[in-house]
Amino acid sequence: MDTVTELRNKYQSGEVTPSAVVTSVLKTIKEKDVDINAFLDVYDDAITEAKIADELYQKGEAADKPLLGIPVALKNNILIKGKKVTGASKILENYTAVYDATIVKKLKAAGAIIVGATNLDEFAMGGSTENSAFGPTKNPLDTKRVPGGSSGGSAAAVAMGAVPVAIGTDTGGSIRQPASYCGVVGFKPTYGAVSRYGLMAMGSSLDQAGPLTNTVADAELVHNVMAGLDNLDGTTITDDTYPSLPTKDKYTFGVPRNFLAEGVDSDVLETFEQHLADLKAAGHEIKEIDLPLFAKGLAAYYIVMPAEVSSNLARYDGIRYGLSEEGDDLLGVYENTRAEGFGKEVKRRILLGTHVLSSGYYDAYYGKAELARKKMREELATVFKEVDFIVTPTAPTPAFKIGENEDPLSMYAQDIFTVPVNLTGVPALSFPMGNVEREEKSLPVGVQYIGPHGGDARLFEIGKIIYDVRKKLD
Ligand code: GLN
Repeated sequence: MDTVTELRNKYQSGEVTPSAVVTSVLKTIKEKDVDINAFLDVYDDAITEAKIADELYQKGEAADKPLLGIPVALKNNILIKGKKVTGASKILENYTAVYDATIVKKLKAAGAIIVGATNLDEFAMGGSTENSAFGPTKNPLDTKRVPGGSSGGSAAAVAMGAVPVAIGTDTGGSIRQPASYCGVVGFKPTYGAVSRYGLMAMGSSLDQAGPLTNTVADAELVHNVMAGLDNLDGTTITDDTYPSLPTKDKYTFGVPRNFLAEGVDSDVLETFEQHLADLKAAGHEIKEIDLPLFAKGLAAYYIVMPAEVSSNLARYDGIRYGLSEEGDDLLGVYENTRAEGFGKEVKRRILLGTHVLSSGYYDAYYGKAELARKKMREELATVFKEVDFIVTPTAPTPAFKIGENEDPLSMYAQDIFTVPVNLTGVPALSFPMGNVEREEKSLPVGVQYIGPHGGDARLFEIGKIIYDVRKKLD
């Protein structure tokens, strides 16, 4: 599949038209997705919009629409007016969105053509897309394996060559980890850079939407379309909220080696060391850093996140949205609806979250986790005085097999490098750093560059130099 930039150039020169591309996208999805299950919905009416884009290109009126005619898939926890948006949950199986999320409005205004909705772990809870109420998504690079999660459908949609761009959401790694497993680029913005209005909330203090693409340049383009202050989301920031960071010729990369010691597959670690050697060879500096609190991120995340989940998911009560089961009284309606509508993982997190917020436990768990989070932010601020980026593998392993991580704790361990980023609100970019072999298949593994608050543009800058350029040479 062409990149966004390539497609746009071809549209502009008249080599192909948006309607021809969208027609072939819909065909590819229908053919390949029988096996992969990356899509929960495909929008045939996208053709009508593509024809309008054809005309705008013909008339030379494409200049102010950076994504005109570009096919985009959206994770199905992002509201699109008039479309079914389920969060991959039975509780919203027949729910139709009544408004567009802010990012959807912006994508549409930029001329993007939304061709379908992608599969996810129910309400974005999980790391494999196995928790979808509508069946798991398979990894297009090895269909015995998961694509990662929770934005597994979005990562698979790009990896199978169906679309050049898919949007995901990232609460603890759900854009970056599937990007790593599927060999694509994934970006989690600084908290507040992108509006959350119209996203199904998981952990409101952690959630951000971002792109999954084939190149860093494409991720940058799409992110810039979606970002910006939004009156409908009071946590959104402006360009000058954080000091702007000048681009440099050579950067200093901090490596938290203490943090990498445990649980990382040895060949993933070797690939990572090779990546560091390449950075050094390119003239960048590699510096050992200590991030003792980062290692506690997982523990803090699995308290803060479920606490927010338990509160956010209280709205699915059988009265306002979606599924409603009968009961003897009002409480019975709530109980029966939630027992029937939610899957196992979602229930586990609601229980956990309710527990850590309950009287007597709040201070012991939630209060402490929030304190740890504050300390982690301070730790980061100190480290970013010395280094420009922190670099880690995106995940400790390549894509695992479907069914392999049934124990929730081993699944949670996959998030070790990604969750501290959400807890502290900084931006991070994941792109492929190499391949490792499993059962005679070559599987991609990603590297994660973490920047300070507001360092989004700089991450794109370095990502383009390190990844896009290298990819072209390959
Ligand atoms: N895998 C993590 C979790 O299960 C991340 C989820 C996310 O980012 N939405 O919570």
